[in-house]
Amino acid sequence: MMIEGQHRLILIGPQGSGKGTQAELLSVYLQVPTISTGQLCRSEIAHGTELGKQIENFVKNGELVPDEIITAMLKKRISDYDAQDGFIIDGFPRTVAQAEEAQSWLHPTKVIVLEINDRVAVQRMTSRRACTQCRFKTTAEYVAKHGDECPRCFGKIIQRQDDLPEAIQKRLDMYHLVTQPVIEFYKKTDEMERFNGALSIPLVFMEIAHVL
Ligand SMILES: [Zn+2]
Repeated sequence: MMIEGQHRLILIGPQGSGKGTQAELLSVYLQVPTISTGQLCRSEIAHGTELGKQIENFVKNGELVPDEIITAMLKKRISDYDAQDGFIIDGFPRTVAQAEEAQSWLHPTKVIVLEINDRVAVQRMTSRRACTQCRFKTTAEYVAKHGDECPRCFGKIIQRQDDLPEAIQKRLDMYHLVTQPVIEFYKKTDEMERFNGALSIPLVFMEIAHVL
């Protein structure tokens, strides 16, 4: 398939929907960067910029980073050289207010929503295992077969607190609460496409590529 023109994608989906993996695949396929607002915030903080100091203060006080700052960061990022053929945005818009405001400058060509029911998402996430020492990630099936020694660094592979069912359900509840209104907002536009995130990664990818 020929890829023509700009791909300005917004990716929306809960944990366990395969969103991160699809973002990586699409980034390679379309040769455009993945832009995550969380990553942008962390990068500003790490570089000790004026903006980074402001963001750090909000985070320290347990407050949300204001829309103006998020928007300013995103506008700057999508004007970068490597984003001129398009981009994939992960983590924005978080609210309907952000989505409405972004209508005047973001102009997404597609809003890709990965759907998965909570039961399947929890099932997927609870099988996650990770090394306590390096970043090696694997599954419960792997540990059942090969034991809990990390094949990379010989550290111990465990189930993280974050991947316990109650913690996952809590994050899913928050996702529904915060993100459902944003999905409702984009339903009224022509750009939204919904996909079944419970299907296999290659299948979901092929279906997304088909609508691009
Ligand atoms: Zn390891």
